[in-house]
Amino acid sequence: MTLSADRPLLIASGNPNKHREISQALNLPPEQVITPADLESDRGATPDPDETGSTLLENAIIKAREFSLWSGQWALADDTGLFVEGLNGDPGVYSARYAGENATFSDNIDKLLKNLAAREGITREAHFSCVLVLCDGDEVILSVEGRCNGQITESPRGEGGFGYDPVFLPDGETQTFSEMSPEAKNQISHRGLAVRQFSQLFEAAMTEGKKS
Ligand code: IMP
Repeated sequence: MTLSADRPLLIASGNPNKHREISQALNLPPEQVITPADLESDRGATPDPDETGSTLLENAIIKAREFSLWSGQWALADDTGLFVEGLNGDPGVYSARYAGENATFSDNIDKLLKNLAAREGITREAHFSCVLVLCDGDEVILSVEGRCNGQITESPRGEGGFGYDPVFLPDGETQTFSEMSPEAKNQISHRGLAVRQFSQLFEAAMTEGKKS
């Protein structure tokens, strides 16, 4: 597989935090990284694909494909979830809507802590996983997974971050993701690892593409 350096790469998300985080890590010229808003006047409304997959990989492929077909560009999509071993991997692919379609982060945390408390003595081991997929039209060009292992705390700790950060204590750390600085979290987080791994593979593939 070879990639040419003259095509833009679309970040398949409407979330500006993801645009910033991913484009910073990609180490590409800013004009080569585009977001859906850059294309809406030509292509119409940004797609909003149904995430019907049963794995993070399936959902990331659904999003990357739909955005690439919509834009005619390479599209990079991510999907992330928290997998709690004592709850048979829940909330997993349903992490965003664990306590219902319009659940807030705090609703999801409450449900998680209640479910763990109801099963006294079970393991609180958990991991975050983040999958990134690059598609060119229907074709999957690259996929990577970043994982961060840890424990679910007994109660929320910290003010920073988002989602399940206040109840996730990474292995070997004394602070939850919420208590860490964004930089410290990014060094060890599932998303940080996935983006850095993707960036290395993407750069290597571009260098290969330039040679051929
Ligand atoms: P998404 O696929 O990145 O939108 O993530 C789905 C859900 O997983 C989010 O709504 C959060 O609840 C949770 N999540 C994803 N990444 C993180 C993280 O870094 N910390 C805490 N929760 C996260």
